[in-house]
Amino acid sequence: MLDLAIIGGGPAGLTAGLYATRGGLKNVTMFEMGMPGGQITGSSEIENYPGQVEIVSGMDLMESWPKQAMRFGLKHEMNQVSKVTKSGDVFTVELSDGTKQEAKSVLLATGSVPKKGGFKGEKELFGRGVSTCATCDGFFYKNKEVAVIGGGDSALEEAVYLAKMCSKVYLVHRRDTYRAAPSTIEHMKACENIEEVTNVIVEEVYGDASGVLGLKVKSKETGEIRDLEVPGVFTFVGRDVLSDSLKQDDGSYLCEVNEATEVVVDLKMRTNVPGLYAAGDVRIDAAKQVVCAAADGATAAVNIIEFLG
Ligand code: NAP
Repeated sequence: MLDLAIIGGGPAGLTAGLYATRGGLKNVTMFEMGMPGGQITGSSEIENYPGQVEIVSGMDLMESWPKQAMRFGLKHEMNQVSKVTKSGDVFTVELSDGTKQEAKSVLLATGSVPKKGGFKGEKELFGRGVSTCATCDGFFYKNKEVAVIGGGDSALEEAVYLAKMCSKVYLVHRRDTYRAAPSTIEHMKACENIEEVTNVIVEEVYGDASGVLGLKVKSKETGEIRDLEVPGVFTFVGRDVLSDSLKQDDGSYLCEVNEATEVVVDLKMRTNVPGLYAAGDVRIDAAKQVVCAAADGATAAVNIIEFLG
């Protein structure tokens, strides 16, 4: 039986693995469906990770984390966790390949995935011009025009990144003020090839068999429709947490979650189920920062060691 099953290999899961194994737990496995590193590996530029003075990509920032975490005995299994249940004091972690693992404690560190905007054409053209990852797909639009939808840190940061390779970036936002950090807004405003298209509703993303051909937006003030003829549309309209693995057969969750299915934890990252912890973006009130996710992972591990005695 595992001492600890860590679900998710982003900053929270990796840091928890590091602290748990270095803190003496012998049998710790981190389940990660893709490569360790987490959602941050899709970010093009990071300038607010403490101690990291130069701007780096998320991929570069995370490169050394798995290596460090595995040094003390953390095991990594590339497998998706489909369900977590508990019977008595024992958790069962069900994996997508049909196998199961028992564990004395579980840390959910699954993070989040990009939210869909719900625009007409978005689903049909996803992967054919509609994208949620500028680092992955930006290169396809070198010297072309693209649109970025959203007004948060992700949208503005990725718009700035895309502006370096694309001939023009339309930043499409439904209000005329942004929720991104002031310095990020400043960076965005300094880019001469970013045109802000604010106070608009996205009417549709349209295209044909070849992919996206453009984006129609409607002014909230005048009702006028504007057609942005771009081959690439990047949406950054927020994120959904990944807590589905806590869902039980009757549709309830193994532990308390809020209306957005974020996991309710206390300051020790404990859920209301003894032995079950959550860390990083999947928990309530997460600041959604790499440094905070890592800190959550460390906090959880320290308290799991204490819990296991
Ligand atoms: P976010 O902060 O939730 O922003 C989402 C943006 O999309 C908002 O501007 C929102 O508009 C807009 N939006 C939402 N639904 C929409 C829809 N259906 N149609 C059109 N627009 C829509 O999401 P995020 O930018 O992904 O950031 C998530 C979290 O990660 C935040 O806490 C952020 O601070 C953090 N983050 C931090 C960094 C960093 O520190 N470097 C980088 C990236 C993300 P409204 O403003 O009108 O609601």
